[in-house]
Parts: sequence; structure tokens; C-alpha cells
Amino acid sequence: MPDLIVIGGGIAGSSLSYLAARAGLRVTLIDAAQARASDVPSALLNPVRGQGGRVEARALEGLRYTWALLAALEEAGYPVPHGRSGVLRPVPDPATQAKWSARLPAGLPHRWREPQELSEVGLGPAWHAVLELPEGGWLDGAALCRALRAASGALTLRAQVARWDARTVTLAGGELLEARRVVFCGGSWGSSRAGLPGVHRRGSLLRLARPLSPVPVSFGAYAAPARAGGVLGATFEAPTDTYRDDPLPLHSLAWLLDKQAALFGHHGGELTGVWTASRLGGGLRFGPQTDGSYALSGLGSKGFLLGPLLASELLRLMLPFE
Ligand SMILES: Cc1cc2nc3c(=O)[nH]c(=O)nc-3n(C[C@H](O)[C@H](O)[C@H](O)COP(=O)(O)OP(=O)(O)OC[C@H]3O[C@@H](n4cnc5c(N)ncnc54)[C@H](O)[C@@H]3O)c2cc1C
Repeated sequence: MPDLIVIGGGIAGSSLSYLAARAGLRVTLIDAAQARASDVPSALLNPVRGQGGRVEARALEGLRYTWALLAALEEAGYPVPHGRSGVLRPVPDPATQAKWSARLPAGLPHRWREPQELSEVGLGPAWHAVLELPEGGWLDGAALCRALRAASGALTLRAQVARWDARTVTLAGGELLEARRVVFCGGSWGSSRAGLPGVHRRGSLLRLARPLSPVPVSFGAYAAPARAGGVLGATFEAPTDTYRDDPLPLHSLAWLLDKQAALFGHHGGELTGVWTASRLGGGLRFGPQTDGSYALSGLGSKGFLLGPLLASELLRLMLPFE
């Protein structure tokens, strides 16, 4: 019998499986590999969030934890495409700059730049100032999860879990598996199927033959380098209370291209594909649940910023295994 069954192989479940296996636990990871938001081709590690410039209390800790995880994976022979290039957050006016400045915690490395200083980025003419966050960057989400799963050495099953409780998991085919702990890390798709509450938001990235900027830039939408070329994207569809799998609507494509024009002052670029997924927000599901199982889900737009750090905390919470 394994010590731990982890349901879901996105950033939450893959991080937990890796960390638990390194702590000496026998882990089985069950992943349907459906609608995995963590397969995002280029995710930002950006501690200053949204257009409000909010900073999560643990953003810097989470950021450093994720970078340390990438370094450990690389050292173990599982390199993940990424860029520790910093992140640029242009702001449109002095009022936004003042609001963001007031929200920046003292310990968060940053500096305000003039848009004209950043000629290599080629920002559009409308920006008032640019917040540079030197510890941010981008990473390949799918590659990170793959590396974590491979490095964990966990037994990985491609299967769908129909139901679970504190110590058992029933697969869709009826097979029953037992473990000393069961953790649900099912993201938007899995939470919706299980009837768990949450706010689901779809978003899309345009894959581009070349990055729009050598450093990630974000306001409204983000442009970032990727393993191959670059991306332009955001999570921008109207929130729903269940998972949806609609493709990118045409009006959203137009919205995204307008964001590109605002960021860089031009449309265009060679499109090589579109990636669409759904993320789950509306409250973090973390720790012991009423049925005795555990959960790490509902990471919203911060899966890579906080997911690995929270996985490490969840593991500490579950230990010791009796
Ligand atoms: C367009 C877009 C851009 C984003 N950009 C960023 C970004 O820049 N930075 C950032 O930090 N975050 C970003 N995010 C958010 C990030 O992708 C999510 O927070 C994160 O991927 C959620 O990870 P997860 O492990 O909780 O869920 P998921 O990655 O969705 O993984 C859940 C997995 O569980 C499996 N599963 C579910 N239920 C079952 C079941 N019953 N049986 C078996 N398997 C099951 C699913 O098939 C899936 O593989 C973005 C999201 C989107 C949509």
C-alpha cells in the first residue's frame, strides 16, 4: 500500500509527489491528464498581481521556492526551460504608479524605470512608468510538471478517479486503491467533475514564432518568451461556476490583439498556435477536508508562484504518517 495517493498531475500534484517522494514516502500519482492548466507553455513568476498591483503576503517566498525547485531539478538532470530575466509591469498613469508603490512590501526587490530606458523591449507610447521586478521571470509549465513527475520516481497511473475518501480511491473502471493518505489536486476540470465549488476562468495564449519582448511584460495581458518563440495571453473569459471547454472566441482574440497593441504599440507577429485552458479560483482548497482526505486546489492565477511552496507546507501538515 502506498503512503500517499495524489489525484492530479498539474503543478500542485506534481510538486507534492516530488516533495513527498524525496521525504521518503511511497507515492502513487493518478492523473487523467485532461484539461491540465499547468501545461501553460510559458507561465510568469510575477509577484505583483493584476492591474491593481497587489502583492500576496508570501509572493517572494513562493517565487524563491519555485526557482530553487527548478535549480534542484536541473542539478538532478531534469532541466526546465525558463528565464530568470525579471518581469516588467508598465503602468499607464501616475495614480496607478502611486497605488502600486504604496502596496510594494519593503523586502520585494524592485525599481521604477522610464519606458524610454527600455528600448530593447519596445513598449508602446502610452506608458507612464515601468515597474521592474528583477527576481521574476518565466518558465515552461508543462516541462516543469513533467520534470517533477519524472524526478519524483512516483508510480504514475494515467487514469480517472471517480471518487475518493480519507484512505481509498475508486478509479472510473471500478478498481479500488488504498493508501495512508489521499490528496486531491484536481484543478478546474477535476473540481468541477467532483461537484466542488469554485470559480472557473478560461484563458488563452497565442503561441508566436518569436517573443514580443526578451523580458516578460504584463499589464492586462502578458507577453513572454517561451521554450520555442513566445506567447501573448491572459485569463480573460467571464467566470463560470463549472469547468467549460469552449475554444478561444473570436472577440477574445480581438481583445488579446488590442492588449498587444497597447503593450507594444503594434499588432502582429507570426502565430504558430493557440493554447486554451481553465484555471480555478474562488478560494484556495488547502489541507484536511471533512472526509479525512487532503486537498491542494484553487490556485487561481498563482499556480507557479505559490503551488510548490504550498505543496511543501501541505506535506509538513500531513507528516508524520502513522
Ligand atoms: C491562460 C492561463 C495563463 C496562466 N498563466 C499563469 C502564469 O503566468 N503564472 C502562474 O503562476 N499561473 C498561471 N496560470 C494559472 C495556473 O496555470 C494554475 O494556477 C495551475 O496550473 C493550477 O494547477 P493545478 O495543479 O491546481 O491544476 P491543473 O494544472 O489543472 O491539474 C489538475 C490535473 O488533475 C487531473 N485530474 C483532475 N481530476 C482528476 C480525477 N478525478 N482523476 C484523475 N485526474 C484528475 C487533471 O486531468 C489535471 O491533469 C494560468 C492559467 C491559464 C488558464
